[in-house]
Amino acid sequence: MHRFFIETYGCQMNVYDSNIIASIMADAGFERTCHSSDADILIFYTCNVREKAAQRVFSNINLLRSANTKVVAVGGCVPQAEKDEIFRYKHINIAFGPHAYHMLPTHVSRVLSGETDRVLDVTPLHPQKFNCCGAERTASHSEFVTIQEGCDNYCTYCIVPYTRGKEYSRPVADIIAEIKMLLARGAQEITLLGQNVNSYDGDAPYINIRKPRGTWNFGRLLQEVAALDGLRRLRYTTSHPKDITTDLMEQHAHIDVLVPFVHIPVQSGSDRILKLMNRGHTTKEYVDKLMAFRDICPGIQFSSDFIVGFPTETEDDFEDTLNLVKEVGYLNAYSFKYSPRNGTPAATMDGQIPDDIKARRLSMLQSELMKSQRAHNEAIVGKMMEVLLDKAGKKDRQYVGKNVYMQSVVVESDDADLIGKFRMVIIERAFQNSVAGRLV
Ligand code: SF4
Repeated sequence: MHRFFIETYGCQMNVYDSNIIASIMADAGFERTCHSSDADILIFYTCNVREKAAQRVFSNINLLRSANTKVVAVGGCVPQAEKDEIFRYKHINIAFGPHAYHMLPTHVSRVLSGETDRVLDVTPLHPQKFNCCGAERTASHSEFVTIQEGCDNYCTYCIVPYTRGKEYSRPVADIIAEIKMLLARGAQEITLLGQNVNSYDGDAPYINIRKPRGTWNFGRLLQEVAALDGLRRLRYTTSHPKDITTDLMEQHAHIDVLVPFVHIPVQSGSDRILKLMNRGHTTKEYVDKLMAFRDICPGIQFSSDFIVGFPTETEDDFEDTLNLVKEVGYLNAYSFKYSPRNGTPAATMDGQIPDDIKARRLSMLQSELMKSQRAHNEAIVGKMMEVLLDKAGKKDRQYVGKNVYMQSVVVESDDADLIGKFRMVIIERAFQNSVAGRLV
């Protein structure tokens, strides 16, 4: 039997896609292995959001290829963005975009049979890819489900509209069927995924034509999912600030299983930079939405994304970003140096910022974000909260789980198998990236 090994890079949507790929490969009779040396089919599912992603994939192909390797398949956003270049790396047999993963077993079989040694499949969206989620798909206690993909916002730094394509929403019935299947197979926590989940439009499946919101907006989808038997926690990511509505805030006030923690990327605290980024909102509009969220749902917490060193960013612009971080008090955030992506407008803008300045600003921003994260961790000491235990810890008897705010909680127990179980925990100590507690 042929065995395959998958290495996944990048975002949660890539993790989701990789799970589907594993299940459709298993359905087609291939066996998954966790050791690349046991595999004759190596699959690399890639991310192109940052610079040098392709080089990293190529060097990892070199590291993982062995005498056993018969097929190397590279999927996801790198081949979609670099379709003209991808085969300059001679060891790649199959290059497939994020909309063609359902064809992978067919492509692999063609290479194995000797029919061809090169396949390029970077076609635009095949909606049927979502209907290929494999009879062999297993479910862990926490699962991702894509509800929306692609983006029409064209932020000037971002490659996603060119790799994942135009915005489209999956039909409600398909989403509900997939989640029901995952719940029946043991999932308890579901994270709904999309580049802009809150622009979900179930009345215009597949191609979001920007018509006025119909009856199946994101809030209604949340209600429908939350009503499913067996669901204990519901999360979603990512949201665009301009599509955060009062309706969505009110869902948080009314749906018990919906966590009080929302990721709302802002990227910069400077209105001038937000305009150059084509983000479609000002800092004030963003902060006003967060404050309204807090009024409607007291206790809600936020995380965000930041880019430092966007072209022309001045010290004053950067100061505005630091001030925004202090004002909002994020529970955590992802922060990066601006990385020019070929084909995006920002890559050719005047005023590119030297790397040493980007590095200094990133370090200053991260120390501010770390202060905020530490303060949030300290604020829950003494509180009792429900934790979903995810995995074994580094030490004997240790388990690590997540509370509703995605804070990592470490506990000790002699119980042999707590993974995938919800437990009440009293938080006793706070650290930078986690808290420690005692099982009640
Ligand atoms: S909203 Fe902007 S940053 Fe997010 S995926 Fe779309 S273009 Fe990229």
